[in-house]
Amino acid sequence: MSVAALEVRGLEVRYGPVRAVRGVDLDVAPGGVTALLGANGAGKTTTLMAAAGARRFAAGSVTIFGRDMTGADPEAVVRAGVAISPEGRRVFASLSVEENLTVAGAVVPDRALARGRRAEMMERFPILGERRRQLAGLLSGGEQQMLAVARALMSGPRLLLLDEPSLGLAPRMVDRIFEIVEALRAEGIAVLLVEQNAALALEVADRAVVLANGAVAAAGTPAEIADDALLRSAYLAA
Ligand code: ATP
Repeated sequence: MSVAALEVRGLEVRYGPVRAVRGVDLDVAPGGVTALLGANGAGKTTTLMAAAGARRFAAGSVTIFGRDMTGADPEAVVRAGVAISPEGRRVFASLSVEENLTVAGAVVPDRALARGRRAEMMERFPILGERRRQLAGLLSGGEQQMLAVARALMSGPRLLLLDEPSLGLAPRMVDRIFEIVEALRAEGIAVLLVEQNAALALEVADRAVVLANGAVAAAGTPAEIADDALLRSAYLAA
């Protein structure tokens, strides 16, 4: 079997006395999409941030494309081929679309490559090309989400950590965002997809992990998770 894009084992994260993540195991196959599901506060974002090197953890391991990245800092995780599109998009509101992409491209040492990728992003997401000179803060939520994904792609990742991309978006934009996830998968980019919208996430994923109170409540194929009525009513609000 080829080496996993992401392998998390026995992850424990605490906020003071709160055990936010408790013994979580998680895999993303190379070029695969794993959906990380669960109610508000279940520990999804904390797990994703720990995998990104942005959250210290008390125990467990993180392996990225076969390399032990336990305790590595975010820069090292980026160099290992990982990009993050954070919850709430976090685009620079007072910079233009193009400037947002330029800033994200600063991690690419080859300037010509960075410029080429920026042009590629504006072709790939035509609305960003049309609005290249517009301040990112003036974009709609869906457009900002596209910009957040485009920024993440500027580093040329092999694994994208995508946190709540559909949150607060109009249905048409939600569809568009999920089309983008499918396109990434078709290109061989692996995705860890944190989502509140379990039904849609299960449509694009090939693995799913459900968290409840910081622990894994269930893991399996999307069909296994979707068919479990108890699980659905207890944790997925679907
Ligand atoms: P959401 O969908 O609301 O973001 P989530 O599943 O991503 O939820 P987390 O944000 O990872 O969950 O939160 C897990 C638990 O850790 C929650 O109980 C939350 O209140 C707590 N928590 C998260 N961030 C912090 C923090 N910075 N300090 C203290 N507790 C935190």
